[in-house]
Amino acid sequence: MTTSDPDVSPIPYSDAALEFRDEIRDWLKRNAPDELRGVEAPRVPSPELQTHLDRWADTLTEAGLMCVSWPKEYGGRGLTGVEVALMNEEFARAGVPRLTRGMGEGLVGPAVIAHATEEQKRRVLPPIISGEHVYCQGFSEPGAGSDLAGLRTRGEIDGTDLVINGQKTWTSGYYKANWMFCLVRTDPDAPKHKGISYVLLPLEVDGEPNGVEFRPIRRMTGKALFGESFLTDARTPLDNVIGGLNQGWKVAMTTLGNERGGSATTQHVAFERQFWRLVDLARERGLAGDVRVREQLAWAWSRIQVIKATGFGLVADLAAGGSGTGLGNGSTAKIRWSEFQRRLMEIAMDLAGPDALVTGPDYELDEWQEDFLATRSHTIWGGTAEVQRNIIGERVLNLPKEPAPAKKTERKEAVR
Ligand SMILES: Cc1cc2nc3c(=O)[nH]c(=O)nc-3n(C[C@H](O)[C@H](O)[C@H](O)COP(=O)(O)OP(=O)(O)OC[C@H]3O[C@@H](n4cnc5c(N)ncnc54)[C@H](O)[C@@H]3O)c2cc1C
Repeated sequence: MTTSDPDVSPIPYSDAALEFRDEIRDWLKRNAPDELRGVEAPRVPSPELQTHLDRWADTLTEAGLMCVSWPKEYGGRGLTGVEVALMNEEFARAGVPRLTRGMGEGLVGPAVIAHATEEQKRRVLPPIISGEHVYCQGFSEPGAGSDLAGLRTRGEIDGTDLVINGQKTWTSGYYKANWMFCLVRTDPDAPKHKGISYVLLPLEVDGEPNGVEFRPIRRMTGKALFGESFLTDARTPLDNVIGGLNQGWKVAMTTLGNERGGSATTQHVAFERQFWRLVDLARERGLAGDVRVREQLAWAWSRIQVIKATGFGLVADLAAGGSGTGLGNGSTAKIRWSEFQRRLMEIAMDLAGPDALVTGPDYELDEWQEDFLATRSHTIWGGTAEVQRNIIGERVLNLPKEPAPAKKTERKEAVR
């Protein structure tokens, strides 16, 4: 067995869930494109692959298979967590990518559904499903990463608009986006968590730039997949403030919860596929019989089973009508998957041997080199592993809070 198989899973799926699974399996048999079978969608697809992916995204949209967990009245399919998990399993079984609408689907949508007005939900959600509105995330600033509430980008009311000035950074995928969801300070006199608003900002208005300039930042993979964002009198109607003016912190927490733990029920599918490619690499290198290598692979497989079991635990909880919050805590999930992925790619580098070290100005990194470098960042974005441990300690285990940093004078005394 090389992929997870819901037929042998320990979860007592309901008849309705199994009926849904059969429906998806049947649909995939008829519609999965041959060009995409076995394709792992890379971070930067070739133009030819992009065309196939775009066509597949259109097919999924027409079949109502985008943003599937969103409520039906806003264009989603109203699927439960269990059904989404089953659907992902079926896509893995068919060997075709389960495309999503990226940050719009995973981060903006859930926050809008939880906190926006009815009018906003009806206006904001459909263009995400159709692919017309593509979002990037404007949370981090040069002086506000882990301490996100320290952000300084200002939003000032001018008539019926909010006018935004400031700087964001590490804005992933800005080059594909035509909207940004961002946090701005709208009440500088309020305590820092209380004066923040969650705002949807169009990057163009009537075909003209809307005061947002991006400068690419090159990652260590050599690709500029994120950038700095400079906002100068960028305008958006007050109607695009989600959750109320100065009430943005709770909306941001919904987004971050989804960023950290949103795929906890399904990511083992991708990890298992990657694991078996790693086994192939070991075989190609003639290392599959090496005891040290087998030990590392056994470790990786057992970690994936832990990730899968906790994911299934969450699915079982959802199937029984629970909220999943105990097992599905976003911070524990984030630490588990991000640290595992980093380690898995270290194993890949060991297996690749001297080839892993090849690099140079005109050299295109191979899949393993690129993933090794890219996964270094997984314990940073969406909240660092250290900060997740703080959250677990303080908010889940109710341990004492970390001491506030010492004031300058106290620090001097301490040195003395
Ligand atoms: C690949 C990548 C993509 C990203 N994409 C986006 C994006 O699209 N949009 C966006 O808004 N942001 C994005 N980010 C930014 C990301 O959210 C921040 O990098 C992250 O929140 C950490 O903030 P920082 O970089 O300012 O580090 P800092 O907050 O300065 O942290 C530096 C170090 O100090 C540690 N530290 C900080 N505070 C504590 C504490 N209280 N206790 C213990 N240790 C602590 C951290 O763990 C870290 O090791 C991205 C980052 C990366 C790497």
